[in-house]
Amino acid sequence: MTRDVEPAVSSLDPQIPKLIKSAERILIVTHISPDGDAIGSLLGLGWAMRATEKEIILACADSIPSPFHFLPGYTYITREPIGSFDLVIGLDASDPQRLGTPWQRASQGQVPTIVIDHHVTNLAFGTVNWVDTRAAATAEMVFDLIKAMKLPLDHNAATCLLCGIVTDTRGFRTSNTTPRTLAIATQLMEAGADLNLITEQTLNRKPLAVLRLWGMALSNMQMRNQILWSTITQKMREETGVNENGDGGLVNTLISANEANIAVVFTEREENQIEVGLRAKPGFDVSKVALALGGGGHPQAAGCTNSGPLEVAQERVLTALEESLGQQEKS
Ligand code: AMP
Ligand code: MN
Ligand code: MN
Repeated sequence: MTRDVEPAVSSLDPQIPKLIKSAERILIVTHISPDGDAIGSLLGLGWAMRATEKEIILACADSIPSPFHFLPGYTYITREPIGSFDLVIGLDASDPQRLGTPWQRASQGQVPTIVIDHHVTNLAFGTVNWVDTRAAATAEMVFDLIKAMKLPLDHNAATCLLCGIVTDTRGFRTSNTTPRTLAIATQLMEAGADLNLITEQTLNRKPLAVLRLWGMALSNMQMRNQILWSTITQKMREETGVNENGDGGLVNTLISANEANIAVVFTEREENQIEVGLRAKPGFDVSKVALALGGGGHPQAAGCTNSGPLEVAQERVLTALEESLGQQEKS
């Protein structure tokens, strides 16, 4: 059974299909520290573009985390694309830094660049910017593009795009999940995507070591006004044997506390960098603080990376969040 999905209200910029049709060697780049939407959108568009007989290069500056190795084609993603391109497409990133060196190198000069993204903090840094903040995932927008260009949607593309939607909505649970999200997901399942496999691989499983790390972080969490926050140090990661990529998602558990309107997890990275994960209950907004601190995101889920030391970054972020909460309560 096929069911047509109504086009998005803010419809696709017609320049995008035109630019794609006239290009021959296209670089598609997704963001650093890639999540399921970043990788799913990249691979989904890559699979669909195979039908065009153009040369398509898929890139991400960071390696693909193991929970996403079930996605068809992930080994084709390169960290260092070679040569020049006549079109560059950036996916799921609100600023050029987040697309890393592949974007920065390829977008120099006169090369046209297309930005496809759903973050409210998007800086419109492309030649053509298609930013739809109503989309629950960039994968929804890639689905629209594939339909608009009448590209084939095989089971590989469908699996990758559904992975993007499932992970960004945490299994259709976030407040930006719409009837349209579900309608697209239905079409993707009908095209062969396995919802159960995607959910198992990306949401229902994590290594025991990560649970031990979370245990440590949960025991050090603190409440400050309506902000529940916790820290993952390098030492904690060494003690539990969790590598760089394996500790994500804890902040989603913190925001489930009834008493918290905002949740924060500070993660110590190498070279004195502190990664800050932010979540807000519906009705509250953490994207503005993330943007002000050099990051970005959505009203209910955002992040930034600040320089340490840890205690200095914590005070900077918590103070900014308290101020923002005060303003949000007044308005
Ligand atoms: P996360 O907490 O990593 O799941 O990220 C939540 C949201 O914030 C995602 O939509 C990210 O794209 C965005 N985000 C996280 N970290 C950063 C950052 N350093 N810069 C810009 N956006 C970010
Ligand atoms: Mn993302
Ligand atoms: Mn996304």
